[in-house]
Amino acid sequence: TKFTDLGLSEPILKALATDGYETPTPIQAQAIPIVLAGKDLMGIAQTGTGKTAAFALPIIEQLLKNPRMAPRRGCRVLVLSPTRELASQIAESFRSYSKNVRLSIAVVFGGVAAGPQVRKLANGVDILVATPGRLLDHVDGKMLRLDQVEHFVLDEADQMLDLGFIHAIRRVVPMLPARRQTLFFSATMPKTIKELADTILTNPETVAV
Ligand code: AMP
Repeated sequence: TKFTDLGLSEPILKALATDGYETPTPIQAQAIPIVLAGKDLMGIAQTGTGKTAAFALPIIEQLLKNPRMAPRRGCRVLVLSPTRELASQIAESFRSYSKNVRLSIAVVFGGVAAGPQVRKLANGVDILVATPGRLLDHVDGKMLRLDQVEHFVLDEADQMLDLGFIHAIRRVVPMLPARRQTLFFSATMPKTIKELADTILTNPETVAV
């Protein structure tokens, strides 16, 4: 499989070429067509497999196909990540893959001042990458609404549970529109993760690498 066979448009393919990506990794080759078709996805993959691009590329493609203004104090894409380092990396990947198009991207995590994050969210952003605690702080402070989210990604679900974010995730999910696309990633799939996935996903396709 080549990136040009996967249904991605020219500005994205150009960004990948600039970044030196030549061939899709297995999770990318398998997941990208599923996500582009609008389906929910359960991805069983470790870090280092290229899973970030596996969800980011087809999400960017869908945003471009369906252009819309970002909702005020809201976002079109919400990615939840367990740590600030990972959240920053994911946001950087989105920025790189979307360098040839106009999309707004914000990242919010705890341990830093909330003010600059709030100002970025005020006009809304296309893509928001967040850790769960700080995300809920912004929601509780009425600085962020999640009722316009079109694509929801839960990354490293097993890590989320280990870090005690299950309660936060259970609070976030009911704030999202029922009609949305959900992509769920975990390196391992023990029973608790499977049960969480079952409450969040609708008719998912599974990809394991
Ligand atoms: P991830 O598993 O998403 O954390 O990605 C691991 C690393 O692989 C990151 O540095 C990516 O930039 C890089 N990467 C992802 N997909 C590809 C690809 N198809 N070709 C070359 N590098 C890639």
